[in-house]
Amino acid sequence: MSQLATPSERKMIYGGDWRPALDGATFESINPATSAVLGRVPNGGSDDTKAAIDAAAAAFPKWSRLPAAQRAIHLRRAADRLDAQREAIARTITLEEGKPLAESRNEMRLVVDSLHWYAEEARRAYGAWIPDPMPNRRLLTIREPVGVCGAIIPWNVPAAMIMRKAAPALAVGCTMVLKPAEQTPITALVVAEAFLQADLPPGVFNVVTGDPEPIGKSLLGDERVRKISFTGSTAVGRILLRGAAEHIKRVSMELGGNAPAILFEDCDLDKAVDNVAALKFLNAGQACITANRIYVQRSIHDRVAGKLAARAAALKVGDGTRDGVAMGPLIEEEALSKVAALVGDARERGASLLTGGARLVEGDLAKGTFYAPTVLTDMRGDMRMAKEEIFGPVATLYRFDTEEEVIAAANDVPYGLSAYVFTGSMSRAVRVGERLEVGMVGVNDIRIGAAEAPFGGIKQSGLGREGGREGMDEYLETKLLALGLELG
Ligand code: ADP
Repeated sequence: MSQLATPSERKMIYGGDWRPALDGATFESINPATSAVLGRVPNGGSDDTKAAIDAAAAAFPKWSRLPAAQRAIHLRRAADRLDAQREAIARTITLEEGKPLAESRNEMRLVVDSLHWYAEEARRAYGAWIPDPMPNRRLLTIREPVGVCGAIIPWNVPAAMIMRKAAPALAVGCTMVLKPAEQTPITALVVAEAFLQADLPPGVFNVVTGDPEPIGKSLLGDERVRKISFTGSTAVGRILLRGAAEHIKRVSMELGGNAPAILFEDCDLDKAVDNVAALKFLNAGQACITANRIYVQRSIHDRVAGKLAARAAALKVGDGTRDGVAMGPLIEEEALSKVAALVGDARERGASLLTGGARLVEGDLAKGTFYAPTVLTDMRGDMRMAKEEIFGPVATLYRFDTEEEVIAAANDVPYGLSAYVFTGSMSRAVRVGERLEVGMVGVNDIRIGAAEAPFGGIKQSGLGREGGREGMDEYLETKLLALGLELG
């Protein structure tokens, strides 16, 4: 099966086929590096969502009853398709989201790996035979798929975010209706196309592009949708949680972050700066796990600040499809204005600018939404950036003296997604790691993600986990079978 419309005019995918919006409406997807229109996609709403839920509900009985090993065959076939198209899809991600090609290729590796890993892991969705306190009865549990799942994802990791939800859900027998972000619909459609090409049964995986509110309301308002999995802002997460209350739907929420990175004076300074720079400027700082607050122990502050500023100033910024580009644009104008306002607030309150601090407009950069890699120091807890997610390439340095003081500061936010600790002392790493109020701690390393590892936050950063065994449990119910028997 192949795309029926011209490449610049795509359709959405549900019930195993390409579909326009029922009312024919479309919207544009824009390349943030050039402002060029990449294509038009259907602007779906409630009716389209209902049609996609119909397809997902119709597919559920058969798909959920297939042995996991059979579902795994389908998912591996899709993974092979995605693998074969890895380079083309990585390019689509870069064109639509802006990140450099090397980052998009890494994202595609996670896409393929998640499918393979969950295809296997679902074969181990074991129940239990429970020792029974009563005679003539036996207790056992079985794990069953939740049902039709609604998934809503953001634009910053537009392909891997799909698979972090779809791979475990489909592997255990759920079906899914996915709504991608309005900034990155084409990426979602090319990923869904691989499922079509792999002959996944119609209705198992469906994508509705379009208007967030009506699509969200339809997913929440339909009793057949038994679970909502959301990644995005805490504000929208709250709206969806309220909506999920109506039918007591299960929810998983990956929400905002405000991660501290803590550099103690006994750390390997060059390695710590390498890690912090890699994390901070990854995807131009547009990641929920990025270092939002960088705490540096006073004795090493000036050296860290100097090295980080030099790294930032040397980064090649530009169109992510070009060779050697290390950082792409922000997603849109609104994101630029927000970053500029946050930097302005910090500077007015006394922060010192070491490098960057402005939009980039030289030459071709003027066509896109580029912000200079920026380093600020003399940061304080009363500045907006201490409390709000920056979502831009701005490294902000705070000085600290003691372990106690930095743990208190790190925890003094309503978020609790990730944190990073750099120290030469394993005892300190464990001591601090255990006291940080977050779901994930990187120790002397910022690479906290893997298909095998549980990813997620506490406090207002979310509910539930994606990845690993825990990510599969999110799509499973536990059913008890109490068997009355004549055992003598
Ligand atoms: P971001 O700030 O990263 O764009 P959002 O939370 O605004 O995060 O968006 C994440 C996803 O949630 C996107 O797919 C967006 O379209 C969707 N979304 C935004 N508002 C709503 C809503 N009211 N109902 C359902 N989905 C929504």
